[in-house]
Amino acid sequence: MAPNIASTDQETKIKAWGMAADLLAFLDASPSAYHGAATLVGRLETAGFKRIDEREPFAIEPGGRYFIQRNDTSVIAFVPGSRPPSSGGFHLVAAHTDSPCLKLKPQAEQVSHGLIGLGIELYGSPVLATWMDRDLGLCGRLVLSPDGTSLSSRLIRLHRPVISIPNAALHMNRQVNQEGLKINPQTEMWPILAAIEEESAQPALFGRLLASAADVEPEQILGFDLVLFDLQPASFAGLEEEFVRSGRLDNLSMCHAASTALVAAVDCASEATRLAVFYDSEEVGSLTAQGARSNLVPAILERIALALGDDRQGYLQALASSILISADNAHALHPGYVEKSEPNHAPLLNGGPVIKTHAGRAYATDGYSAALFERLCRGAQVPCQRFVNRSDSPSGSTIGSMASAQLGMVTVDVGNPQLAMHSIREMGGTYDHYYMVQAMTVFFSD
Ligand code: ZN
Repeated sequence: MAPNIASTDQETKIKAWGMAADLLAFLDASPSAYHGAATLVGRLETAGFKRIDEREPFAIEPGGRYFIQRNDTSVIAFVPGSRPPSSGGFHLVAAHTDSPCLKLKPQAEQVSHGLIGLGIELYGSPVLATWMDRDLGLCGRLVLSPDGTSLSSRLIRLHRPVISIPNAALHMNRQVNQEGLKINPQTEMWPILAAIEEESAQPALFGRLLASAADVEPEQILGFDLVLFDLQPASFAGLEEEFVRSGRLDNLSMCHAASTALVAAVDCASEATRLAVFYDSEEVGSLTAQGARSNLVPAILERIALALGDDRQGYLQALASSILISADNAHALHPGYVEKSEPNHAPLLNGGPVIKTHAGRAYATDGYSAALFERLCRGAQVPCQRFVNRSDSPSGSTIGSMASAQLGMVTVDVGNPQLAMHSIREMGGTYDHYYMVQAMTVFFSD
């Protein structure tokens, strides 16, 4: 059924716009997974959440507000319930902080024909053509050794159009509009940083650029994780601002939704221990120390249970009475590619959150967990849509199945409908975001 925005009452519209405006600010503050995690941490601290160091014993109390951060990216925020997990269970929403992008090689500087460029690798599966001819900044993490012995991280963000990746002219690629833009990321994506007169005249220009951004000496930078990002700010779109446009809606929009919902519900008395999990590494398969295939969530859940008085038996009891909502965006029907959607399961922008199902279990959803989320949406009085792939096309995947198999808990895969997934600039529905926050808030209020 098509969403009827015209019939949406004015109060809901104003709330949805306000929520989406906050999402846009969140996206602009988060040009990399590192910045996304830092933005989440800042918001959690503002809401009274206290950092716990994984290297220390957990000292936590029912009703307290806590978070941990692993390797500067993945974050878990949690609120212990009024009952120990063995009887109260865990209620989790999990999303991911990383998005497809172009990542710098360790020895990034490359010189060719009077130009200094930056060597890039693909992080995940970006739509490469969308990165051409954009104004690109540079951001991420430097690892510094100010005194030559200790190591520390510092986030940097060069927020000016220092880099661009020019397309081949039409005259050099005559069939581009008939055959599509095919790009070799090693040879044809050439991010240009600067012009030089003599190749020997600009020693270590890139190192000096990073050093000035971090206000350190170049030799103090021992490592980095840096990515390119689009400088165009996130924005509303559509005549009635019924759409949002930005890079990284997949999946920072779900990070924003989960953190906003947890903060909104934090004062509700709940027997369950509530957690919002923000994984890194989803776009590259999750097999990292802080991804969904790591010990991150099992270890933190067990430590919470033990700190709240349960033993290992109690921790395993808790898993059996817990629920995981895996939140990652879904494909909306694209009017130009209608045949790519399953006719009876084609979500529409602003039609509400989407429950994703796959017979081969690329998604963790089953009939029971779908019913749980459907009930949440009804309780929040928001619409809900269903997605399955066409039977003749393969499925995407997300963290739900991995986390579900590791934890053995009831799991549903959901997400908001969006267009242009993995483009440098994606498109979603203003109202969907509000609806998702409402549904997650009901979940966290129970
Ligand atoms: Zn995703």
